[in-house]
Amino acid sequence: MAHSTAPVSAEHLIAIEEEWGAHNYHPLDIVVERASGAWVYDADGRRYLDCLSAYSALNQGHCHPRILAALKEQAERVTLTSRAFRNDQLPLFCQELAALCRMQMVLPMNTGAEAVETAIKAARRWGYTKKSIAPDQAEIIVCSNNFHGRTTTIVGFSSEPGYREGFGPFTPGFVTIPFGDAAALEAAITPNTAAFLFEPIQCEAGILIPPAGYLRAVAEICKKHNVLLMADEIQTGLGRTGAMFACWREDVQPDVFILGKALSGGFYPVSAVVSSREVLGVFAPGTHGSTYGGNPLACAVARTAVQVVQDERLAERATELGAWLLAELRATLHHAAIQEIRGCGLLIAIDLHQPARTYCEKLMQLGVLCKETHSHVIRLAPPLVISKEDLEWACTQLRAVFA
Ligand SMILES: *Cc1c(COP(=O)(O)O)cnc(C)c1O
Repeated sequence: MAHSTAPVSAEHLIAIEEEWGAHNYHPLDIVVERASGAWVYDADGRRYLDCLSAYSALNQGHCHPRILAALKEQAERVTLTSRAFRNDQLPLFCQELAALCRMQMVLPMNTGAEAVETAIKAARRWGYTKKSIAPDQAEIIVCSNNFHGRTTTIVGFSSEPGYREGFGPFTPGFVTIPFGDAAALEAAITPNTAAFLFEPIQCEAGILIPPAGYLRAVAEICKKHNVLLMADEIQTGLGRTGAMFACWREDVQPDVFILGKALSGGFYPVSAVVSSREVLGVFAPGTHGSTYGGNPLACAVARTAVQVVQDERLAERATELGAWLLAELRATLHHAAIQEIRGCGLLIAIDLHQPARTYCEKLMQLGVLCKETHSHVIRLAPPLVISKEDLEWACTQLRAVFA
């Protein structure tokens, strides 16, 4: 079929997608045509405030001009070398990201799930070579309600039936404990435990915030038992929770940071495992890789995306705006359907007694884009560059929906 340049109506585009695209998502029926900062626009010129930020991939806002300029500049020079050759962006990306994370080494990948897989491989190999775990006996402890991505290995240790059903058989070697329970971690550790893989806040599970002191407690337990503490900060990292990394809210330095999403500010899939020489040193040439991982376009984009988080003090903005938004919602949003409003930085949950989908649909009609998470939770996670005025406007729309 020839490509036509005539505009296609939103309705028609939705029908085409339904027919030709696999139905592994249930999107709200807004067809985004362009976006800028915290706002997205449909073909009819209607604007919507983005309160999802592509699951926190857009902390820097849509189409950030500095990241866009870096992308264009790099795209015109060289985009892909593969790791068969070196490029002039990868070294600086690794150096700058390691410094930001107060770590020693970086292993770049593309998607978040690939970075989690990389961390799992690193932990296992570390367990065999540095902790003398017997071959094929390494265990990794994970938490119930986790979300670490969609590969077969990762969904194999999910506790969410919808992520798993029909996709087995699964990879062995994972042990599940309740989230937020440090004693359960200590009880689950055996001589074969290589790592504890966790999210400092469980976002996809409905923004579940562990009790104060949990991060410090699990860090101490891991240290005591020579178990790697692997923090999946793909969604919580790079400013979202009001600190550069959510672990740092309790002054915890994990052994491994897993990063993605906002690492590229929404322009391009870039993920990374950031750790010590002891851990990432387990990879020798040929033991792991990715054709696009560490490509110069990705590295140029990510270097600028990280710089923007720092230069625009996005973590500080998340602290200030998040505290205001949480207090405002708690003070002014009252409805029998609301069970709890909780949050950390600009990551806020309106937890309902009933499914959140209809509320998200109503909010969309009023120009606010949210997506339900875990069916009963409305997640508010706007770009961290959002203005206070725009947040005030979002609150007005939320009050209207719950009026
Ligand atoms: C999104 C996410 C992932 C997976 O990232 P993808 O880029 O979608 O593969 C893993 N862990 C957490 C905590 C996430 O939020």
